[in-house]
Amino acid sequence: MESFPFRTVEVLCLGTSITLSGLFYYIYRKKQKTVDKLNKAPQLSLDRNLANILNATPGKCLQYVIVEGNVQPIKEPLRSQFQEGCVGVVQKLVLREHKLVWNSLARTWTDSERILHQRINTVPFNLVGSDEAAVRVLCPLEASGLNMEVVHEKFHQASYSFTDIIGQYLSGEKPKGQLETEEMVKVGTMLTGVGELFLDTDHTLKLRPPTDGSEFFLTPVDFETMRMQQEGQALLWRVLASVCAVAGVAVLLWVARRYYQHLQAEQVREQQRRDFERLSTIEDRDDDDEEVETVDNACVICLSSPRNCVVLDCGHVCCCFRCFQALPQPVCPMCRQPIKRVVPLYQA
Ligand SMILES: [Zn+2]
Ligand SMILES: [Zn+2]
Repeated sequence: MESFPFRTVEVLCLGTSITLSGLFYYIYRKKQKTVDKLNKAPQLSLDRNLANILNATPGKCLQYVIVEGNVQPIKEPLRSQFQEGCVGVVQKLVLREHKLVWNSLARTWTDSERILHQRINTVPFNLVGSDEAAVRVLCPLEASGLNMEVVHEKFHQASYSFTDIIGQYLSGEKPKGQLETEEMVKVGTMLTGVGELFLDTDHTLKLRPPTDGSEFFLTPVDFETMRMQQEGQALLWRVLASVCAVAGVAVLLWVARRYYQHLQAEQVREQQRRDFERLSTIEDRDDDDEEVETVDNACVICLSSPRNCVVLDCGHVCCCFRCFQALPQPVCPMCRQPIKRVVPLYQA
């Protein structure tokens, strides 16, 4: 029996679905771990009592806690470069270039965006709760979920002359302009922080990225909303992993079905071969006295054996079974029609 041929596209589909479902499942497990940790994390109210709690805790450190407070800079805040009187503690300035690029495959102009320049500034800040109790936030840029408020956005339209336009058609690039944005975490913003809280040697409370590798959060939404968002993401990754796994199973079933058909075809071929073997033993016996007649009725390919099979659907009786088996492609040697079936020919 010849070996079963796997098609490249099947191997590719199977490989891709297994890899993707594995990857998505890994991300889902990670997200789910974060959600479980968030569910277990205590939510502490930010007041004078917090320092006492930390003092009583071994190591003066709590692994994973939730605190909410208003942003207050420790020294001078950052000033907006574009908006008068707007102050913050984290500032992000981005200059993006927008242009149209000719896509020769789709034969259209498609939008393309590129960051030309980006700058992030921070100043040390506290989260301040009731009765002026404060927690200093360390490494705010490492936190997830820090969506900043856009305080300035301006699009500078590109202007060009007639020769520029000709040049653009030749190069396949049309600049649209530049988008300038400024984002800020403003002073006074309510932030939810989730991380490791510890009492430093100078008796200040500090929130830092957890040392055990858990995810550090700093977000302008309240804790419940943030938890729901994380749960939603975990669910999404789980659905994606399941979809890929189902696709993988579907490909496997498809290959199994093809393998079954392949086995069936092998069986039919084997049966034909046996039929012809039986036929040739009968003819070998007759051969001695019918030498002349056999040559009259010779196979068109080898010109020596008798024609002993009918190829269907065309119905030509033109070759012997051995030559039929040796055909490079299953097409009739007389009329080139595809051969769907071959039937042994018995002469009584
Ligand atoms: Zn032949
Ligand atoms: Zn034919």
